Amino acid sequence: MNELNGRVALVTGSTSGIGLVIANRLAQAGARLVLHGLASEEQATDLCDTFERSYGSRPHFADCDLRDYAQIEQMVAELNQRYGALDVLVNNAGIQHVSPITDFPPEVWNDMMAINLSASFHTIRMALPAMQERDWGRIINIASISGLRGRGGKVGYNATKHGLVGLTKSVALELASTAITCNAICPGWVHTPLVQKQIDVLAQREGLDNDAATQRLIGLRQPSGRFVTKEQIAELALFLCLPATSEVRGVAWAMDGGTTAQ
Ligand code: NAD
Repeated sequence: MNELNGRVALVTGSTSGIGLVIANRLAQAGARLVLHGLASEEQATDLCDTFERSYGSRPHFADCDLRDYAQIEQMVAELNQRYGALDVLVNNAGIQHVSPITDFPPEVWNDMMAINLSASFHTIRMALPAMQERDWGRIINIASISGLRGRGGKVGYNATKHGLVGLTKSVALELASTAITCNAICPGWVHTPLVQKQIDVLAQREGLDNDAATQRLIGLRQPSGRFVTKEQIAELALFLCLPATSEVRGVAWAMDGGTTAQ
């Protein structure tokens, strides 16, 4: 039950959605958590209170806007100083925007590149030296099936997630002879605020109610006909931290209700 006892884990974007459930699962497994995301001071305090009540130890909240790499450098440097090193780094934060390339706002493209891709480059490069000194580590990048296949309307998202899968493979190879692994998880549809926004847009565009729009969205590409759950993604993230997966290196592990099997 305490597979990660004593390990320090940073989960980016853990105020919401998949990241929040991964953070809970790692805390349940005994990890000392660093939470992160866009939140007011009050929201961050409430979140830390909830974790403390549930797991008996208070997480640290790292406040950092991932669009600004100077803030990322400062955050990871402070965490290295506070804990000696990060043991588990989950690069989860991400944003979505759907529109044809001709309408895609360049400022959204830049934000997406920064948050979905460059932030992982910066957290990894900053966390690795201390991790290497400890000679143990787990780096898990939350990519997407959009990192494995294309889709019209998602140029920015697809480009960043393909990039993240490439980053994962190269980092894994640089670390192949060490006890540090780097892998990506590629979820299909998971019901989170990021996906609810896409359901809302579909509902409005097609004049559908929420249930009909949800079924239409899933039916677009997920053969299972249902969402992957956040809890299932969190179990996979934990699995990638265990000794059983210490030779799983550089994979882009789909959990997608059969989408990429098609
Ligand atoms: P979400 O919107 O619920 O959570 C996103 C998190 O990222 C939040 O904590 C938010 O505060 C943080 N974030 C956003 N912009 C930030 C910024 N500038 N600086 C710091 N933090 C920022 O999203 P989610 O659906 O849980 O997605 C989590 C990850 O999973 C993303 O990388 C997403 O691309 C990926 N993913 C999601 C799905 C899905 O169906 N939900 C599918 C495949 C991949």
